[in-house]
Amino acid sequence: MRHCNSVFKAQDIWFLCDSEKYTNRKLYLANCPICNKRIALYTYSDFEKKNFYEQYFYSGGADRIKEKFKKEKTSTMLGFKYKYKMPSGFKYGKNIEVKKNGEIIALKQYACDFWGNKILIKTITDV
Ligand SMILES: [Zn+2]
Repeated sequence: MRHCNSVFKAQDIWFLCDSEKYTNRKLYLANCPICNKRIALYTYSDFEKKNFYEQYFYSGGADRIKEKFKKEKTSTMLGFKYKYKMPSGFKYGKNIEVKKNGEIIALKQYACDFWGNKILIKTITDV
């Protein structure tokens, strides 16, 4: 992706289902590392693969194209990473106290990652 005379990688890529006229549709998403603008790059080709198109959207336009294509995505790069990183990608553990009448009756241990995913590892009830 390009902006501010720099070339950078997408932070996520959405793979979109075919439309009536186009195939190989992808939406590349990133924030420009120079100006921090939200950028979306929509790429697609016709079914004969003769023509390849790319179209840039910025800031509010990037938000609108994301909103528009939300229902058409079949998978995402981050979703793919997430799928293959589980559960070794977990970064930290978190204990959550379960209280009843002000007393701790159980401790729930979760494994969490920085994408906000968490899995309950075990519940300790003899606390
Ligand atoms: Zn920029």
